[in-house]
Amino acid sequence: MMKNKLSKPELFSKSIISRRKFLKISTTYLTLAGFAGLNCACERDKKKRKMILSFYVDDTSPAIANPDAYKTFLEYCKSHGIKGESSVILGYDGESMADNPDNEERTFLDYAKSSYDYGIDTHMEIMTHHELFDFDVRKKAVEGIHEGLWLHEPAVTAEEYYHYFSSILADGEKSGLEFTGLTWPGCGCDVCSLRYEELRVAGPLKFNPAVWEALLDLVKRGNFRNRVIPVFYESSETDYNIFQKAADGKFAVYDLMPNAGDHMGIWENSVEHVNPDYYITEDGKSGIIVTHLNNRAPYCLWYMHWQGLNPENGVGWDAFKIVIDRIEKHLDNKVIWMRPSDIVTRYHDTSGWEFAEEI
Ligand SMILES: [Zn+2]
Ligand SMILES: [Zn+2]
Repeated sequence: MMKNKLSKPELFSKSIISRRKFLKISTTYLTLAGFAGLNCACERDKKKRKMILSFYVDDTSPAIANPDAYKTFLEYCKSHGIKGESSVILGYDGESMADNPDNEERTFLDYAKSSYDYGIDTHMEIMTHHELFDFDVRKKAVEGIHEGLWLHEPAVTAEEYYHYFSSILADGEKSGLEFTGLTWPGCGCDVCSLRYEELRVAGPLKFNPAVWEALLDLVKRGNFRNRVIPVFYESSETDYNIFQKAADGKFAVYDLMPNAGDHMGIWENSVEHVNPDYYITEDGKSGIIVTHLNNRAPYCLWYMHWQGLNPENGVGWDAFKIVIDRIEKHLDNKVIWMRPSDIVTRYHDTSGWEFAEEI
């Protein structure tokens, strides 16, 4: 549950992005803005491009809220046509939910299996969110490196990542779950923080490239639900983009950066981190969604945490519903909800955001 002290909101300010990349993004937006602004009378502008909306929820687990809370969330999303992503962490409590799940876990997995039909993708936020899982003894290691950091360690090989990821996917399959991507689990423990700092000093913090290689291998073998998968790694409110990390023909792995943060209670489930106005104000005139819309951004994607969002005891649940109400009231014809997996697939198939012009 404890997040990396360089939490995602802080990553916004520290996001490492090269000037070249930034110029490339700026140019893309200028091009889009050009279409929209300068050719007012043209046919293209009449069917105005809609901005894609999406989100992801970290730490979703029956250990945090009753599975019925997850059902309430899924049904709310479906009834409002909302699309996004929510993690499933199979080994969160130290054992795999694929082995003898208790009643709560079984109920949770039943909902998770069908979450895609409710509009919600399912990422592995890897297996335990903490120590590595030992798939031979079917338990989380008692001590040792944490998963999020392990994804960064330069000495780990593609084979080791491949083996670990494929074991998680196999446990998912055993539970009837198909994963759609991977989310970096943050951790703020002393050991992780120290090592992250060392890695940051040595160069920009990034996943070991073998992570992308292993993920692409698994995508090509059909072990994920789709042939193109999103990963949630970097994030920034301003210097955001989508990055192709590995690809082979129609198969690909993308880092899809969120460009809005968590103001729904975060992992602390604390009221001081709840603010619906951050997303959209009551009059619909400001907030980050409106800012991205005004800037002709192709998407607005934010993240949340199950501790704060869940309808059972999350302090952010009402705020989430307020945000959705405001979006429906003010932006209904200007935005379109998409699952992250659909965003990356369509982006890959059209080699850019052109598909958004047709939505
Ligand atoms: Zn997490
Ligand atoms: Zn840690």
